[in-house]
Amino acid sequence: MSEADCLFCRIVAGEIPAKIVHETERTLAFRDVNPQAPTHVLVIPKDHYPNAAALAAADDGLADDVFKAAHAVAEQEGVVESGYRLVFNTGPGAGQTVFHVHGHVLGGRGLTWPPG
Ligand code: 5GP
Ligand code: ZN
Repeated sequence: MSEADCLFCRIVAGEIPAKIVHETERTLAFRDVNPQAPTHVLVIPKDHYPNAAALAAADDGLADDVFKAAHAVAEQEGVVESGYRLVFNTGPGAGQTVFHVHGHVLGGRGLTWPPG
């Protein structure tokens, strides 16, 4: 399940390079090209779902896989103790710009609340 003109589908296909930090059968995690924190990794399902709502409706445990992969990345990056944030911007009003669902794993610095 992929879309030819989707940036993250193209990263999954190896057509666009990315700094991959974690991979499972159904998920891929790679560094954000414009990092907003010392750790800024994007975790995606390899299959194309446009946003978190669509992923949540994928009735096959895929959301669970993405969530667990995000935590594995946080462990690997050493930010579990200091704290990390897992963000799914969902919809343009929330700042989503790439419409292949992705969780941002952010950590390695103090993170304020509320976000902008
Ligand atoms: P969104 O705004 O949709 O929540 O997040 C999209 C993220 O994708 C942004 O943080 C942006 O920096 C990142 N991004 C956009 N294009 C690329 C790319 O080609 N490679 C990587 N690794 N990240 C990208
Ligand atoms: Zn895609």
